[in-house]
Amino acid sequence: MRLDAFMAAANARYYATHDPFKDFVTAPEISQAFGEVLGAWAAVGWAAMGHPAPVILAEAGPGRGTLMADACRLIGRVAPDFAAAAHLHCIETSPKLRAVQATRLPRATWHDSLDTVPPGPLILLANEFLDALPIRQFVRRSPGWTERWVVDGAPVERPVVPDAPLPPAADGEIVEIGEAALAWTTAVASRLVAHGGMALIIDYGPAESAPGDSLQAIQGGHPANPFAAPGAADLTAHVDFQAIATAACAAGAAVFGPIPQGPFLVRLGLFQRIDRLARGAPAAQVAALIAAGQRLVEPDRMGRLFKVLAICHPLLPVPAGFEE
Ligand code: SAH
Repeated sequence: MRLDAFMAAANARYYATHDPFKDFVTAPEISQAFGEVLGAWAAVGWAAMGHPAPVILAEAGPGRGTLMADACRLIGRVAPDFAAAAHLHCIETSPKLRAVQATRLPRATWHDSLDTVPPGPLILLANEFLDALPIRQFVRRSPGWTERWVVDGAPVERPVVPDAPLPPAADGEIVEIGEAALAWTTAVASRLVAHGGMALIIDYGPAESAPGDSLQAIQGGHPANPFAAPGAADLTAHVDFQAIATAACAAGAAVFGPIPQGPFLVRLGLFQRIDRLARGAPAAQVAALIAAGQRLVEPDRMGRLFKVLAICHPLLPVPAGFEE
């Protein structure tokens, strides 16, 4: 199978059969303040959009539904008009995770892809979603290129004439193209331009350069061979934020970022929120709340590798957290 088909099939099996949260921890599972400040981000965005009612509040790849449950709880408290106007939609392919999400988000509607989410103004959140989408890998073998396929549990290279020009690369260098992520971004941006709204993408990847070879597998919490046991490990690749931004701009949307997650969360008031949660709590719990917040923002932990990118209707103001 070509690498992208292999990755799509392996991940579909992985997410349908595993509890991925035994293998890795994501930001909303670390601190409830993460989903809460993103709920505040969405509420500010909704006001900037002119308080459309109804409005679609959607999440791509909601995992356990924690982020959206935390966001909705905060929205219900601080922006009841937004809560009343919002129709909740989840884009999720895994039946197992849909069932978990339904326990947290009983009023949501589920979709296999963005295509069936009804038209209209949209606020879309996606945390660690794009890194799960399949990639293609090309290897420079002067004077041409090869592409990576997976045969009998091992990667092989096959000569290829790329369908689009690839960036210059040294002999033997791998160029990764996240076609699925780019197609998704184009679809999101086109929707936002046509119907209004904004999307927030949070994932890990370099801010400026292309990722190179970033395919990785995590099995049982440890790095694993990505090719050996399809469906047993979570396969991810770094997100090429420059390519994503270019695709969104080409569709007519405005793009903000990518900026590192740390300063973004601090600007949104993560620690003010944690301070609130800590009030009156026993000392051990206060320490745990603060440590969780630090894990999300410190540069040598999740604060720098993770980036945040907003895609907006071109007439909207700068979204919260992206001010210069
Ligand atoms: N956003 C969550 C979960 C991240 S894991 C969190 O931050 O905790 C990736 C999520 O994307 C899982 O819910 C997985 O089932 C979902 N997913 C992976 N590939 C998908 C696809 N092609 N379409 C829709 N959902 C997908």
